[in-house]
Amino acid sequence: MSNTKYIFVTGGVTSSLGKGIISASLGKLLQARGFKVTIQKLDPYINVDPGTLNPYEHGECFVTYDGAETDLDLGHYERFLGIKTSQANNVTTGRIYQSVINKERRGDYLGKTVQVIPHITDEIKRRILLLGTKNKYDMVITEIGGTVGDIESLPYIEAVRQLKWELGSNNVLYIHLTLVPYLSASGELKTKPTQHSVKELLENGIQPDILVLRTEHELTDDIRRKVASFCNVDFQSVVQSIDVSTIYEVPILMQKENLDVTVLKKLSIPQKSSPSLEPWKKFLQKLKNPKHKVKIALVGKYVELADSYKSINEAFIHAGAVNECAVEVKYVHSEELNQDNLAETLAGINGIVVAPGFGDRGIEGKILAAQYARENNVPFFGICLGLQCAVVEFARNVLGLEKAHSTEMHTKTNYPVIDLMEEQKGITEKGGTMRLGAYPCIVNKKSKVYNAYKKEQIEERHRHRYEFNDKYLAEFEAAGMKAVGINPDTKLVEIMEIPDLKWFVGVQFHPEYSSTVIEPHPLFIHFIKAAIS
Ligand code: GLN
Repeated sequence: MSNTKYIFVTGGVTSSLGKGIISASLGKLLQARGFKVTIQKLDPYINVDPGTLNPYEHGECFVTYDGAETDLDLGHYERFLGIKTSQANNVTTGRIYQSVINKERRGDYLGKTVQVIPHITDEIKRRILLLGTKNKYDMVITEIGGTVGDIESLPYIEAVRQLKWELGSNNVLYIHLTLVPYLSASGELKTKPTQHSVKELLENGIQPDILVLRTEHELTDDIRRKVASFCNVDFQSVVQSIDVSTIYEVPILMQKENLDVTVLKKLSIPQKSSPSLEPWKKFLQKLKNPKHKVKIALVGKYVELADSYKSINEAFIHAGAVNECAVEVKYVHSEELNQDNLAETLAGINGIVVAPGFGDRGIEGKILAAQYARENNVPFFGICLGLQCAVVEFARNVLGLEKAHSTEMHTKTNYPVIDLMEEQKGITEKGGTMRLGAYPCIVNKKSKVYNAYKKEQIEERHRHRYEFNDKYLAEFEAAGMKAVGINPDTKLVEIMEIPDLKWFVGVQFHPEYSSTVIEPHPLFIHFIKAAIS
């Protein structure tokens, strides 16, 4: 029998209340007290993973070290806790059904009718418990996606209801996050939606232990008392989550609200030590008191939805704080960028990032942005497709390889400077079939990126099908664009750099996934440094 404690976070009233941030903040506080904590996300949609979702649907797809394509909340968990999550940290309804149906086909349930209860709920419980016991965590925080009352969330709610009964009330805790809206006409905060939402949970057999109330205004004691009495929780278990200017403030706010203390009490865990949040506070201090300011253009095609580039945005916040620099990100729609508006759009910009992406929509705008950066010596950071665009641009305009392209965009190009990997050629299925997860890379000691990493051996996460085409390497290097990061096993080019420019770096991997509050990513730090100078 394991001693892992399970904390479930549900949401009510509306979506987008920040369950992920509350889960990550609680995780941070518990971790800072010395507990071994991880966070899991259960997503009620039928896609097996979000890898096949357009960023407009669900924001960025976050990639774990072990190569899972996951929900962007896992990015928050990693950035707050500084831990590495894995496939086991993100479970979707699609994945649950897939394994139950596979078992059914294998004959594991032979003779039985396979049903939502118990088979689907059992599979949900198995995946929750496995994460805790396999890795010997003290605590697993599981965030249930969606809003209580949604049809698709029901099996999850039922599964976690059963767990309290199975594991005992000392080992399971329910936190429910709701909204307390403010009616400006009457100048009042309203608790009724919270009461209804708790009622809905009660109908499903769950009495929340702690309520976290999202609000735009301070909650009075009267309001807290009212919520406590109508929702059957004690006064200390009504926690205020007030709007703040940065998500990184939330752990500090939750500490002020004693969320961690209440959780420990409810789970009958003796308080080990008080949480040490010094490095975190130092980060916040720097974040809020910048001495410099830079404007970075983020060129991409999903710019209408900031969540599409979540990890890149957060990496800029981390790297900005290290440099005591406010980073203003200007989103530039690559489809709208052309020769005529290029100079005007990028005037006053201190650095250019060409974002990751797929398909040819807006590709010429990205290539133009890379050209502008190279010709005007503006610090440039190309990430995945961003590197590929810089390569195509260099091929066309420096090497004179007319209409050079990636075969992703132009299958019959005469100069396929970016091409499909051999092992990708036979693949037709879309889900989980890219080069995914962490791969090693050896960094050239004489490069600017080495100066950032300060080590030769690195490991970074990938998510792509296309690669730099080796056949052209000698030509590129002779003309001044160097391969300064190479995969030691496959010899694939992972990093390109133009050493003669101030800072011109393209990476085939995704450094943004590994940037955390306590350990911001060195490439982002050095890119911002270059942008400041
Ligand atoms: N579409 C490109 C590829 O598949 C780049 C992918 C990305 O930017 N993540 O190689």
